[in-house]
Amino acid sequence: MRKRALVLGCTGQLGSYLLELLLEHDYECYGFVRRSSVGNVSRILHLYDKVKLINGDLTDTPSIEAALRISKPHEVYNCAAQSQVGTSFIEPIHTADTTGMGALRLFEAVRTHTSLSEGVRVYQPSSSEMFGLSSAPQTEETPFHPDSPYACAKTFAHHAAQMYRRAYGLFIACGINFNFESPRRGEEFVTRKITRALGRIQTGQQSVLRLGNLAARRDWSHAKDVAQAAWLMLQQSQPDNYVIASGVSHTVKEFVETAFNLAGLEWQKYVVVDPQHLRPLDVAHLEGCANKAKAWLKWEPTVSFLDLVKEMVTHDLQLADTESRVEPIDGRK
Ligand code: GDP
Repeated sequence: MRKRALVLGCTGQLGSYLLELLLEHDYECYGFVRRSSVGNVSRILHLYDKVKLINGDLTDTPSIEAALRISKPHEVYNCAAQSQVGTSFIEPIHTADTTGMGALRLFEAVRTHTSLSEGVRVYQPSSSEMFGLSSAPQTEETPFHPDSPYACAKTFAHHAAQMYRRAYGLFIACGINFNFESPRRGEEFVTRKITRALGRIQTGQQSVLRLGNLAARRDWSHAKDVAQAAWLMLQQSQPDNYVIASGVSHTVKEFVETAFNLAGLEWQKYVVVDPQHLRPLDVAHLEGCANKAKAWLKWEPTVSFLDLVKEMVTHDLQLADTESRVEPIDGRK
């Protein structure tokens, strides 16, 4: 029998890679999509005829319940969230409602609308941001010190997942994901902001790149590898928590240097530190130890930092080149 999967947030970076992976494994795929008048489906346009889309929102319980009823999933992947840390300082309530309460609404809907015998398995993406100031390298045992509204919301959802395991026997696995990137990363995240700017600088469409804290260290891996880890977690006999990380960290400045070097540009000529991009609190050093995932899931990151930067730079140089050739249509002609 074909397995059915429901991917919430399937139009996002992780959701889109998960859909591709699940289709490769011949799942019948359902995607839970927030309605948008401006269209937010560019990452999954190439999958349109292979995925059944269901409109809904994590802040709207009946729509989650309907999605479960329609898709009757064996596996549910909760990739929907307000996932930008900086934005969470500006929209703390919305972030708590989607990223924290949204996960709880999903767990509760799975509990009340499916029976345990159906054995529905849920993937919850937890975040390295939950560790905050705890010193690196961080493992599954490292204490949480959430230092942003986003981190607080993810910590709430992480604890709720474990409570639902203990109280109701639900299968909810948590990937404690360190930063993950790709050419599909949202442009408000620092890596994509850098590579997009680089393309526009190369093609004369931008002259300055304004950034905030260049000293922050992050552990960046490829979103495809994180999707693979998520799937592996739901193939185990028991739900558990796993750190998913490359094990190597770099500063934002090192990312900038690497990207600009690849394009043959001197970054110092273009990058300006702008206090407007500093956060009220910023986590200094995230670097994960994924030994548990390597041992139990047989998971390994497959893309190095340099190859990740290369893929993003190559993609965004090409994209900017295409954009620079687009001529506006003159409606009078
Ligand atoms: P995060 O680790 O989930 O917050 O992912 P981001 O990609 O948003 O940010 C990574 C790090 O880059 C954080 O320490 C930010 O403070 C830092 N950073 C520096 N300049 C910028 C910027 O202009 N935009 C963003 N998003 N982050 C920046």
